Amino acid sequence: MWAIFYPIGEPFRLSFFLSMITLPGLIDPHVHLREPGATHKEDWDSGTAAALAGGFTLVLAMPNTQPPVTDGDTLDQVLDAARHKARCDYAQYLGAGQHNPDTLVPLASRSAGLKMYLDQTYGDLRLDDMGLWLAHFAAWPRGMPIVAHAEGRTLAAVILLSALYDRPVHLAHISRREEILLIRAAKQRGMKITCEVTPHHLFLTQDDLSGGRGEVRPRLATAADRDALWANLEVIDCFATDHAPHTLAEKDAPNPPPGFPGLETALPLFLTAVCDGRLTLEDLLRRMVTNPRRIFNLPEQPESWIEVMPDESWEIRAENTFTRCAWTPFEGWQARGRLSRVVLRGREVFRQGQILSPMGTGKNIR
Ligand SMILES: [Zn+2]
Repeated sequence: MWAIFYPIGEPFRLSFFLSMITLPGLIDPHVHLREPGATHKEDWDSGTAAALAGGFTLVLAMPNTQPPVTDGDTLDQVLDAARHKARCDYAQYLGAGQHNPDTLVPLASRSAGLKMYLDQTYGDLRLDDMGLWLAHFAAWPRGMPIVAHAEGRTLAAVILLSALYDRPVHLAHISRREEILLIRAAKQRGMKITCEVTPHHLFLTQDDLSGGRGEVRPRLATAADRDALWANLEVIDCFATDHAPHTLAEKDAPNPPPGFPGLETALPLFLTAVCDGRLTLEDLLRRMVTNPRRIFNLPEQPESWIEVMPDESWEIRAENTFTRCAWTPFEGWQARGRLSRVVLRGREVFRQGQILSPMGTGKNIR
């Protein structure tokens, strides 16, 4: 067996002749770890185990927990849970609420960034009043990231705010043709926006899942939308999982909550796309390592890497995952390329399906 270390910046394709390749640890800027408030779905223990099992060594956690992370007390509560339980590195977003534009400011440097929910989502953090959008844009420290959940026309509105306030905005989980074309046009005009797309919007359409199991926000879209995302790959800055676990009992009940788990299926789906020639390994690493690191101003993780068997074929099965929600929308999919080992800051933390890092080994990178 021989291995190569993949240097970012050089074109490379998976080869049949390589039995193992080494890549940088992946970064997911959009995960929901459900603690506090819904630890039967996930917590900092199971969610960061799922991250490692998916090749992610650093995750940024969203604030729509119960209670939501909108002040110093809730931030302290979440970071305390993370300090005791996290198995990979992390940072925690703050949520833009109705009464907190100014009180968030002194907390900003301890956070991953500000999350603004401008459209329908899971939880109570939606901001309908545009006056509040302005207040948050005016108050939040320049140099700290803003992430917006904005769909359709709301997306156009938040791009305008980015221009008016002359500050970067990262647009979460873009899913539709009209949206990616709008972002392309805005980038061509030099606007300071970046965007992410989820694996489920790149690999699934509204025809693939039915009932509660297909519920996700933004909704799964048409094949034409999915194809437009692939056709505009150069406009997509990051692949983010939007890992949003709910149990199958919840998904199959009346009023199913929206969201899919995604941490453990993203890398195999994208490696398979590399194998199929839809993506290069460089495309993957730019969107899962270099761009998120730059956009969110994240530190390098020294002595950290992942090892992948590029030619291993296997079947995605929820029973082999670490997420507490115990299902995946990709059940039974054939994948090519499998994670075999993860090293985080010099320590072996995952090997051949086993999590080796104890709880509490993850570091808050802020
Ligand atoms: Zn989300």
